[in-house]
Amino acid sequence: MKKSVVIIGGGLGGLFTGAILAKEGLQVTVLEKNSTAGGGLQTFKRFGCEFDTGMHVVCGMQKGGNIRKICKYLGIEDKINVLQSPDRLYVGYDGEFYDIAATKDGFVDSLSKYFPEERENLRTYVNALFNITDKIDLYNLRPTEQFSGMDFFSSTDDFMLPADVFIAKYLDNSKLRSIVAYTNTLYGGRAGKTPAYVHAIISVSFINGIVRFEDTSRGFKDLLVSVITENGGRVLTNAKVEKIVTENKNAICAKTQNGDYYADLYISDIHPCSLLQILDNEAFPKSYKNRLESIPNSFSAFLLYIKLKKNAFKYLDRNEYFMTNLAKVWDFGYTFEDWPLGFLFMTPPQKNQGEYADTALVTAPMPFDVVRKWENTTSGNRGKGYEDFKAQQTKKILSRLEKIHPGFADCIENICSSTPLTIRDFYNVKEGSLFGFSKDCGNIILSQIPVFTKIKNLLLTGQNVNLHGFCGVPLTAVMTSEAILGGNYITNKLCKI
Ligand SMILES: Cc1cc2nc3c(=O)[nH]c(=O)nc-3n(C[C@H](O)[C@H](O)[C@H](O)COP(=O)(O)OP(=O)(O)OC[C@H]3O[C@@H](n4cnc5c(N)ncnc54)[C@H](O)[C@@H]3O)c2cc1C
Repeated sequence: MKKSVVIIGGGLGGLFTGAILAKEGLQVTVLEKNSTAGGGLQTFKRFGCEFDTGMHVVCGMQKGGNIRKICKYLGIEDKINVLQSPDRLYVGYDGEFYDIAATKDGFVDSLSKYFPEERENLRTYVNALFNITDKIDLYNLRPTEQFSGMDFFSSTDDFMLPADVFIAKYLDNSKLRSIVAYTNTLYGGRAGKTPAYVHAIISVSFINGIVRFEDTSRGFKDLLVSVITENGGRVLTNAKVEKIVTENKNAICAKTQNGDYYADLYISDIHPCSLLQILDNEAFPKSYKNRLESIPNSFSAFLLYIKLKKNAFKYLDRNEYFMTNLAKVWDFGYTFEDWPLGFLFMTPPQKNQGEYADTALVTAPMPFDVVRKWENTTSGNRGKGYEDFKAQQTKKILSRLEKIHPGFADCIENICSSTPLTIRDFYNVKEGSLFGFSKDCGNIILSQIPVFTKIKNLLLTGQNVNLHGFCGVPLTAVMTSEAILGGNYITNKLCKI
């Protein structure tokens, strides 16, 4: 008899975990609350254009990349459409910018052009980054000696240093120290708290080469769904799990409005604090619940989705990061005058991309507190004050964009925005957090959430275990699958690919 598994949440983690388990012969049912599956891979249509919601730059998918290997094992590698894209960092308002190239040599050479006296330090810094990631078995898809179902682990000296201290250990120039932290918008690092290994995984993944999905992330989501369905599983949408019934520390069924789903095993791909809300009160011990509630979450964001006028703005094959103040690279606070301190700007590639871009996208970190006064309102009914707030923030971002791309405002045909409230409601994630639980090297145990829970047949997957994003979530899917199939069961196969 095939073991059956119900996965709560059809996001990046739910689909990767479902695809692996379906391929390995389990009977998989994925329950997704939204009208389409995908979570961070979901897209939406507005003004006749399709926009990505939560997957704009993608790591590990370059030729030979670790996540690409998982796709090869799933049999979908040949169908993936991605384009490699370099990074440019703009600093301040005077048009000063830094082009940052991929590959170890490319990274060192590109930054040495601006900081020739730091060339040797840059080389040592890059080697130190790779030294951290080289030792993490899961990141390298290597079998591990002791399967713990826990966070990434390595015993290098630098692993647990705060990321800012790690950078300062290798680089002398304070400006360069901030510049190499430019990817912080994509992990929400905090000075003195975020462990160096988080910075190293993101940085090494960037140095190995960033890609973007051609024609949105929908195609990739469809590929993961197809692995599940072609192996006898199903992905059900409009299927919000409202309760997980438990008995004697066992999950019995997942209840939705349209029916109850029974299985041998249950896997939660939703934020652990959202999971608490659908579990019986006594399912988890109070101490575990308090712990989950007390872990700080990464920031949220304000996003702009822009339809451009025809043949008005040239397509950019690079990702552009903007920082107003290098000294605040670790700061994601909000003051009315200063915000946004930084953002990511891009023109996503379409199929057969021509000279001009059809759409543009801005992601600007924003703490949830900024919109807290509307937290009890619902979408479409948040009132004029909220609409005015959105218009004000949009104006601020556009005025900053105008500094790096003069005339950009005239190229806009239509524009809409989303706030931390949109993100909270869309993904059902606490405080609209982009990347889930934040790590703190002063208290790493607090944020180390194992895939196992106090309920024997309920496991976790997704961004709150290990690491968020495209470089973290599929690796957790491997770990969650191995918690069911046996330690190293998948990695033994992956390392032969
Ligand atoms: C705006 C934004 C931009 C981002 N940009 C990037 C990027 O460029 N690159 C990158 O690598 N990462 C990016 N991320 C992070 C990335 O999207 C996440 O790390 C990743 O999607 C997390 O995967 P997950 O499976 O844990 O959660 P999700 O992908 O969020 O999936 C959770 C799923 O569970 C569903 N769900 C919730 N509650 C229930 C319920 N009760 N019943 C049924 N279903 C439920 C949700 O609808 C969702 O589909 C971004 C995130 C956001 C929000």
